[in-house]
Amino acid sequence: MAIMTRDFNSVDLSDPKAAALAVKRKALEMGADVVGIGNIERWANAPLQMDPKQIMPECKSIIGMVFRVERGSLRGIEEGTFFSNYSAMGYGGLTYLYMPMTVINLSKFIEDQGYEAIPMGHQSDWRAISNNGELKANFSRPARPGQARPDIMIHLRVAAYLCGLGEIGFSKMFLSPQFGPRCRVGIVLTDVELEPDPIYDGPQLCNRCMACVKACPGACFDPEKTIKVNLAGHEVEWADIDITKCAITFSGTKYTGVVQEDPYLRGNPNDTVPGEWSPFRHKPVNLYQSGQAVCGARGCTRACMISLESRGVLQNTFKEKFRRRPVWSVDWNTPDENVTDLKFTEEKKNEAD
Ligand code: SF4
Ligand code: SF4
Repeated sequence: MAIMTRDFNSVDLSDPKAAALAVKRKALEMGADVVGIGNIERWANAPLQMDPKQIMPECKSIIGMVFRVERGSLRGIEEGTFFSNYSAMGYGGLTYLYMPMTVINLSKFIEDQGYEAIPMGHQSDWRAISNNGELKANFSRPARPGQARPDIMIHLRVAAYLCGLGEIGFSKMFLSPQFGPRCRVGIVLTDVELEPDPIYDGPQLCNRCMACVKACPGACFDPEKTIKVNLAGHEVEWADIDITKCAITFSGTKYTGVVQEDPYLRGNPNDTVPGEWSPFRHKPVNLYQSGQAVCGARGCTRACMISLESRGVLQNTFKEKFRRRPVWSVDWNTPDENVTDLKFTEEKKNEAD
């Protein structure tokens, strides 16, 4: 018995239309929920530090994929009882485990046919620009004159837009017509020429309802401050979200300006307490590297999703509405309730049987 290997050069990707179909079928088979294609010309005006051609000068196409966050993954936070699931399954695990497997496998399929492919999910930690879009001081230098500083960052939400997968909402979240803000984006850069999809022109998703703004526990959005960009000839505008505030708030942290004996963030800064949107006395550990979304995206995802679902504009519909009980809030100024029901009683055991 001889060793076995994959079939190389078994799929002809020379025709852009047929190749696009083959690649899309594979992407769905491999775990993407939605897939679209943008030609590289759509990135012609990309800033140097975000230009895909800085990574792959011969890049012809970008394949964008949407990966849903299960609505059920947000259920425990909505009920105020089970927070780790969203951070693990909908955030860190999806970003650092599931999505890479799909983009890597799709890239392998393309490379099997003799073309290069670069799988990309979130690789933000090495990038030369900060969350605020500024160059990090003393971080890296161009390897060749005139080139971008390593690492460049492809803006994934912009990529999803340029691949025709949906809109960028006022919240700056990517909104897909299937899942609204309840999704993440992965991409593959390739030198295969693939037939591109048109920029999204379906039913309007973001109607400026401002539900995201009102429900954000950190007041991270200033509705008066927006950013306008031109993406492949289309004017796109979103709120100038205060990323620093979001990074603090989403982990459940509230700053007081007063030194705390036992701060929410252990160590420095030492003036933190749990916000009323966190039931935890201290910030829980990160799950799958980045998962610390204690706020459960209360404004930019949950409130937005509820708004979009109620308008009937999303394709992934559910039998029951998402919000079924009033929004909870923890009052940290009152004494803790002493819940002692930690064991199955005989009666409960029988009920469970
Ligand atoms: S909550 Fe409303 S304003 Fe905010 S992104 Fe969603 S649809 Fe747009
Ligand atoms: S993640 Fe939370 S804190 Fe950040 S913008 Fe969304 S709702 Fe606000």
